[in-house]
Amino acid sequence: MYFLGDGKAGEEGFRETMKKIFYTVLALTLLSSFVLGPLVWADGSDTVMRVLIIDDKPSVFLALKGKYKISEINSGRILMEGPYLDAQIAGTKTGLRIGNKESNVYGFKVKVLRDSNIYVDGRRFRGDIDIIRKDNLKLEVINYIGLDDYLYGVLYHEVSHRWPLEVLKAQAIAARTFALYQAKQNKSQPYDLRSDIYSQVYGGRTSEKWSTTHAVDVTRGRVLAYNGDILPAYYHATCAGFTEDAVNLWNVDLPPLKGVSCNFCVYSPHYKWTKNIALWDLARKLKDANYKIDKIASVNILSKNRSGRVDKLEIKDDTGVAIVLTGKDFRQMMGPNELRSTKFDSSIKGNNLVLSGFGWGHGVGMCQWGAFEMAKQGKKAEEILQYYYPGAEITTIDKVKQ
Ligand SMILES: [Zn+2]
Repeated sequence: MYFLGDGKAGEEGFRETMKKIFYTVLALTLLSSFVLGPLVWADGSDTVMRVLIIDDKPSVFLALKGKYKISEINSGRILMEGPYLDAQIAGTKTGLRIGNKESNVYGFKVKVLRDSNIYVDGRRFRGDIDIIRKDNLKLEVINYIGLDDYLYGVLYHEVSHRWPLEVLKAQAIAARTFALYQAKQNKSQPYDLRSDIYSQVYGGRTSEKWSTTHAVDVTRGRVLAYNGDILPAYYHATCAGFTEDAVNLWNVDLPPLKGVSCNFCVYSPHYKWTKNIALWDLARKLKDANYKIDKIASVNILSKNRSGRVDKLEIKDDTGVAIVLTGKDFRQMMGPNELRSTKFDSSIKGNNLVLSGFGWGHGVGMCQWGAFEMAKQGKKAEEILQYYYPGAEITTIDKVKQ
């Protein structure tokens, strides 16, 4: 007991010491409940993002490990509460079924105490969730989550948590900016972001790692802006030489997104790739996309843009019918993960279209593998961001127009 600094020996000293410990613990308990307040419900304080985590599934499995409340979305009426729930939720003709309990409610909100857990189909989430039965009786699950809590779940999927801190910080600022931009674009929609590659890949609490979480924490509130507006801070895996002008892909014409040369990503594992596509498979995909085409005879790149990406591509069949597609539409049709980028050359070998390509992703904004190399060379997060978004300012959320 010497470490308590009491100095008394024997039984009496021991009792004295125990008494002191008792009162100290009591005092600390009272103090902490006074300072920290009662247990709080997770409210996703500050900016709350609405992330679509599940769409069009007939049922989901919901597990709540901790005190929870389930209420009707519109009225706020409490439907269920308790310390623990394990139930399948399914859409029915009359509403939603929770376990074997039928309800005539079309949507409900699940709230848990902060630091309790919500599991949806085995994946753990922070914040609250809404489960909504759609007109087709299938379910839509939306996670309401504080901006940085959301970013914790995004970063692990977007970059390796083993990368240097400066590139993780640059990624945190870009991802925070992009999330706010999406939220601004989707104000009138039922959700701000999807949890897939069409927004940013978000894996929930299951995906968090210490280093990526730290990068979010140390950049808290910091975002990129241009002319006081939140920047559409697109980013991608590997540009392979030159980043893309955003105007070639979307209706976004901004000086920080006009494209820069990048020699930093030359060691990226995605720098160069080859893709073989069977001609019958290409014909099938074109037919699925409502193009009328027979046996494919030739595929020619008609034009490339300044960054070396395919602008227009012509596909001809053996009857002479020609289809002209943009590089963007071609990649979308093939599947963005199947066709890694629109930076490729093409040739036909036997019954295959052979694409020799470079880079991964749309190519706009920060090149993640280039940013990684810059950080390895000692560049700071700010320098990385200024390189890939020239002219953009690094500011704080409260200073951008909402
Ligand atoms: Zn690059």
